[in-house]
Amino acid sequence: MWQRKGKLWYFFVPYCLSTCSNCLKGQNNYLKQFLAHETSYLAHLLNLEMAPTLSSCSLCSQQDPMFRCLDCYGQHLLCKDCLIKSHVQHPFHRPQQWKEGSFEKVSLCDLGYVFNLGHSGSGPPCPENDNLFGDRLMTMVHFNGVFEHCVRFCRCKGASSDHEQLFVHRLFPSTFDRPETAFTFDLLDCYEIDAVECKTSAQSFFHKLRRFTNNAFPDDVPVGLAICFISLNIKLTLINKEPISGTY
Ligand SMILES: [Zn+2]
Ligand SMILES: [Zn+2]
Ligand SMILES: [Zn+2]
Repeated sequence: MWQRKGKLWYFFVPYCLSTCSNCLKGQNNYLKQFLAHETSYLAHLLNLEMAPTLSSCSLCSQQDPMFRCLDCYGQHLLCKDCLIKSHVQHPFHRPQQWKEGSFEKVSLCDLGYVFNLGHSGSGPPCPENDNLFGDRLMTMVHFNGVFEHCVRFCRCKGASSDHEQLFVHRLFPSTFDRPETAFTFDLLDCYEIDAVECKTSAQSFFHKLRRFTNNAFPDDVPVGLAICFISLNIKLTLINKEPISGTY
């Protein structure tokens, strides 16, 4: 029996060693090939951060477009209006503006973007929005960072409560009475997978989100860990419950 095992190892160990050796050879070859392209890659990288060379907006031909979005595919330079129009269905993209010699992060909310709830979200805003409550500045947390958004709730007759309107748009409210913070379902799913596969604690996950939002000053990001953690857990407990019927 031991003899048979010994014979098996006799074949297995050289096989493992040759596999590892091939793997290392592959990595070394890859690095050698990369070094041949290093200078040109560096030049391309620097060119990506250079001043806009296009003189007109990629969508409307307006002169001097100053905005780009790295979350959108392609190298497009846009004017402010086209940037907002093209992001009606992408409120969690992170556009940048060319300012004084470099691209800087800019908030869609600061540019005038309004986050509509009700009326399918991406359709025209609620016709009854000239109400006493007005729009609300909310903090929204997605898996790529923390965002401020000017939210317009639906105030039509028979409209659902604010927290339910958020929920049916896949946003989990941090409170149920006049919520000012919400977490996207994508974020909660992302946390669940991180926790299962990478053993990430809620605290580490939260710190990662703050770094995504502002890597230089993560402490400036305005979301409390306690609220984030509670929402994550409540969402997980809902997974096996029956859906609530109703119109939103
Ligand atoms: Zn334009
Ligand atoms: Zn975008
Ligand atoms: Zn409405």
